[in-house]
Amino acid sequence: MTTTRFSSQSVLAQGGINKYIKDVSIIPPVYTSTTYLRDSDNQYRSGLVYSRADNPTYRPAEKLLAELENAVDARLFASGMAAATAVFQALKPGDSIIAPKVMYWALRQWLKTFGQDTGLHIRFVDTSNLEELQESVNEKAPTLIWLETPGNPLWTVTDIEAVSAIAKSCGALLAVDSTVATPLLTKPLDLSADIVMHSATKYLNGHSDVISGALAARENNEFWQRLVAIRAQSGAVPSPQDASQLLRGMRTLFLRVRESCQNALYIAEQLEQHPNIVEVLYPGLKSFAGHEVAAKQMQGGFGGMLSIRLAGGEKAAIAVAAQTQLWHRATSLGGVESLIEHRASIEGPDTPVPSDLLRLSVGIESADDLLKDLQQAIDSAHA
Ligand code: PLP
Repeated sequence: MTTTRFSSQSVLAQGGINKYIKDVSIIPPVYTSTTYLRDSDNQYRSGLVYSRADNPTYRPAEKLLAELENAVDARLFASGMAAATAVFQALKPGDSIIAPKVMYWALRQWLKTFGQDTGLHIRFVDTSNLEELQESVNEKAPTLIWLETPGNPLWTVTDIEAVSAIAKSCGALLAVDSTVATPLLTKPLDLSADIVMHSATKYLNGHSDVISGALAARENNEFWQRLVAIRAQSGAVPSPQDASQLLRGMRTLFLRVRESCQNALYIAEQLEQHPNIVEVLYPGLKSFAGHEVAAKQMQGGFGGMLSIRLAGGEKAAIAVAAQTQLWHRATSLGGVESLIEHRASIEGPDTPVPSDLLRLSVGIESADDLLKDLQQAIDSAHA
């Protein structure tokens, strides 16, 4: 029998079981042990010592993610924030960072407080504007450029390959939060980023029942080893049960992302002409500022996230969210169920998000039902 190489879709659907687990079980076991046997000659050849540092339950999900991202290695973390902040903790006081103006708000807050307090010098620029970025780099060469594309919640698209060339020209590392793009639509490491980060809480798990994060690396170098050590020494690890549940979620990633992308595009196109909607923000729309770059670096869809801006401002936006029956009014994204959120309310006073904006995480329900529900909510709010 010759060995056939199967696609990542097939390997993912099987949870990587045939490739990574030397066992007869179809589902990998959950290792609940907090500690591991030392060899009789006092070595730890298994590489496993104590579960605050590592647990074999993580490996199938980590290996699948590494394969999907074309990474040399990946590590799960306790949350997306634990994964992202590990990257900044790996820097040294005085190091300089460029981060996007539009990015996940809690990370922006962390950078402005704890990041700055620990001696990091942080500049927020419009990373989608390559001239503005280049000017900022010319002023002071950064140690690390952090991107988030599409950027939550305006879905600003940044050209990863172009920024990577800028980063290389000044010796900076490039890290990309690719949570919204998922490893299926964009592969930042193929575009020469050094590190890719995911909130695995979102699409990777996909069922709104696990908090987890992940980092994956293009090269196994000193920086990656520092990230691995930070996770192990700080104990920023998920529970083995969460890692197992995450693997279960990942197995349907292809189906869920495909469906969410199709639904989101349909809804965005249908709402674009709605008289009570000022603007639809979605990378898949030809009218969207970042559409061309998105078409270049996103394959197979433009993601399941979009935002709408309501005529009638904040009051109308909050009223629409209050009237939906199928869409759940809740924060977070990337689950099979559709969520709607008045984003400015959660981000606080210094948010760049307009107060008339609703963020939509499009799930896998019927696109027509989702649209019908939004339309009735918009009509009632504007009646
Ligand atoms: N990055 C993005 C784009 C997010 O939307 C989130 C959470 O909403 C995070 C990072 C943080 O992930 P977590 O909630 O898993 O800590």
